[in-house]
Amino acid sequence: MKVTLLTHTPDPERVAAAAARQCYSKFSATKAYSDLSSEDMKRLLRKIISSGHLSVLEHASFTFVVDGISRACSHQLVRHRIASYSQQSQRYVKFDEIDFVVPESVSKGGEAEKVFLEGLEGCRRAYRALLEMGIPAEDARYVLPQASPTKIVVTMNARELLNFFELRCCLSAQWEIREVADEMLSLVKAVAPTVFEAAGPFCVSRRVCPEKKYDCPKWVELYKSKKGGAAHAHPEAE
Ligand SMILES: Cc1cc2nc3c(=O)[nH]c(=O)nc-3n(C[C@H](O)[C@H](O)[C@H](O)COP(=O)(O)OP(=O)(O)OC[C@H]3O[C@@H](n4cnc5c(N)ncnc54)[C@H](O)[C@@H]3O)c2cc1C
Repeated sequence: MKVTLLTHTPDPERVAAAAARQCYSKFSATKAYSDLSSEDMKRLLRKIISSGHLSVLEHASFTFVVDGISRACSHQLVRHRIASYSQQSQRYVKFDEIDFVVPESVSKGGEAEKVFLEGLEGCRRAYRALLEMGIPAEDARYVLPQASPTKIVVTMNARELLNFFELRCCLSAQWEIREVADEMLSLVKAVAPTVFEAAGPFCVSRRVCPEKKYDCPKWVELYKSKKGGAAHAHPEAE
């Protein structure tokens, strides 16, 4: 799996900060865009994020290419509706060589891996045979499994990304989409460090665990750091 940040709003933090400044002053965003100092920009962004005035973050958008994830993963990704997607078609593209995505839990060389690979091989054989019989790719693809790889272009704005990271960087999220989300987070942090400085799963962004999994390693780690090393892993212990 490979995640690339293809492009983004040229100065994503400046756009959001200029929009925010215009909301609270008599000057236009044009002036704010050119005049805001880096320090003022950071201060404004932190203020709008902590106050929940998140709509200004919608002016900054980010386009990723996600390559080689499974269809099981892309199906979860496209559930996030405030985004734009362009996915490689199984109708128009014939898959001569299919390099299926194999989860780590089954790729340990045991019986599970054998069963899994046999299943995939059966799908691969059936797909090729159907194509050879003249069945259109759009119908032959019905035998392809969720492990089939796909490529997808995803565009999300910064507000949607914050929501996406809260849900999908969580250790309770499925491993493959979590890997995608973690990669996306590290890519946007490099270009919009203030907007995404506190981004991550709910335990990072809001210090709460909606799953109430207080034995989760992430929660324990965060909670320990908050309590200066004390091993209380339950919020009620605060
Ligand atoms: C751990 C986990 C388990 C899941 N399990 C399942 C499952 O078993 N079955 C299943 O079907 N899905 C499941 N999902 C998917 C989940 O239900 C959401 O569809 C997905 O996470 C997208 O989240 P979202 O709606 O916040 O994102 P988006 O669709 O991007 O929406 C972003 C935000 O916009 C607002 N919004 C968007 N559309 C509307 C609307 N129509 N009305 C009001 N507000 C809106 C909401 O505030 C929303 O949070 C799971 C997700 C996670 C993280």
